[in-house]
Amino acid sequence: MAGATNPLPSLERPTKELVTIGTDILTRELMNVEPGFTLITQDGPIASVDGKVLERAGKVLLATSLDADVLTRAVEMTPENLPVVGVGGGVVMDTAKWIGWSHQTPLYLVPSSISVDASVTNMVAVRDGGGVHYQGFAIPKRVVVDVTLVRTAPIHLNRAGIGDLLSIHTGLFDWRLGALAGTVSFNSDIAQVAESILAATLHDAEEIARVSERGVVTLMSGYCDVNDMTVAQGHAQMEEGSEHYFAYLAEKLTGRNFVHGELVVLGAVLMSRWQENRDDVVMGAATRAKVRWRPDDIGISASELRSIIRELPRFVVETALPYSVINERTLSRSEMESLTKGLV
Ligand SMILES: [Zn+2]
Repeated sequence: MAGATNPLPSLERPTKELVTIGTDILTRELMNVEPGFTLITQDGPIASVDGKVLERAGKVLLATSLDADVLTRAVEMTPENLPVVGVGGGVVMDTAKWIGWSHQTPLYLVPSSISVDASVTNMVAVRDGGGVHYQGFAIPKRVVVDVTLVRTAPIHLNRAGIGDLLSIHTGLFDWRLGALAGTVSFNSDIAQVAESILAATLHDAEEIARVSERGVVTLMSGYCDVNDMTVAQGHAQMEEGSEHYFAYLAEKLTGRNFVHGELVVLGAVLMSRWQENRDDVVMGAATRAKVRWRPDDIGISASELRSIIRELPRFVVETALPYSVINERTLSRSEMESLTKGLV
């Protein structure tokens, strides 16, 4: 959610109430959508859409990119007053949100994995001129999470969904530090809700590893509540802190894309060490959720990892990221080395 600085519109209902989760519910739910709807999807997930649902669709668009030009063309190519249905991953969710919001028509979102929260966030991550800008404010009529469809995604992607909830462990810590340093105001009611989401996530880590229906419910409800708090607060500091800053810099310095949640878990392990804040909590949950996060597993070399850590203090200042342990506590060279102990 970096970059969402303008006041956001408010939500009439908690996002949770818009979400239906179940096994083999996709066809039943989509047969209720007004015929002629625009279907946004992609290779892979489209194979899980029943022929009789496809017959009811009007235009079918394959989403490939979130570039501003591509999104503008997609809006021009689609009917203004028919519902929009998105079935697929993050790019499909954001494309469908953008078209639904642009036309102000009913929007149905069907995520094909739970690796990212794009199906329950309102803004769209538009790529423009090399940067990401969060724009629009789509509120779906329904989010349909079919566990059978979700399980067709590679299991490591679904498990990576835990990253954006484990990040509460380090994000909240940084938010508190920022408040103590007088850079931001702290809301203890919000912090309490975030802590209970984290507790539920830690409790259900094995369920997330199995991608069981319960695991899916835990991740999705966590995402929904985090979204509502972010909209209410106008920032995401209850779940976005130094662990995300690490992830942003890792992508920038290596020039590579990673599975977001996997990189964020690595960030949360490292930053909980920097914070002296129970790294065992993060590592224990990551192990039980069987999520990949170790540098070797996600393709970050020892020297890359060290340079990311060394660059972080300058990066957070230059990018004017909200206050975190990186501003609070300067590490000596040997302390920096010890952050990666046992990891490389
Ligand atoms: Zn994130």
